[in-house]
Amino acid sequence: MQLRPHHGMCFQFYEGRGYSAEFTDHMGGVIRALSERPDTPVRLTLSTDVVCERCPNNVEGICQSAEKVMRYDEAVLNACHLKDGDELPYADFSARVKERILDAGLRRRICGDCEWDAICAKHRREP
Ligand code: SF4
Repeated sequence: MQLRPHHGMCFQFYEGRGYSAEFTDHMGGVIRALSERPDTPVRLTLSTDVVCERCPNNVEGICQSAEKVMRYDEAVLNACHLKDGDELPYADFSARVKERILDAGLRRRICGDCEWDAICAKHRREP
């Protein structure tokens, strides 16, 4: 499964809200599948991924917020000591995101300007 690195953060606090009903149904299904099979290999990618498949911001394979999400993706890769194209079990990737970003208090620094920030911000105290 191809996964944009910053979606490993979105998955942590997802509560069913998103860009359209089709998008949220699909994203919820992806998260359910990964939680049922945490050993699923994910290949990290700096382009559109499994979540983007049903996103209205995905126009012919290009995210309309490409500059912003690329910044998030690169920051997640750096914080997790990973690189574009790396493949690892979802559980391992998720654990790195939790430990090296969320528990380290880096979330807001990486994606604090995201339109969904308030959802994630209520889940833990951050500097
Ligand atoms: S297309 Fe862009 S906004 Fe839509 S899910 Fe992918 S990265 Fe997010």
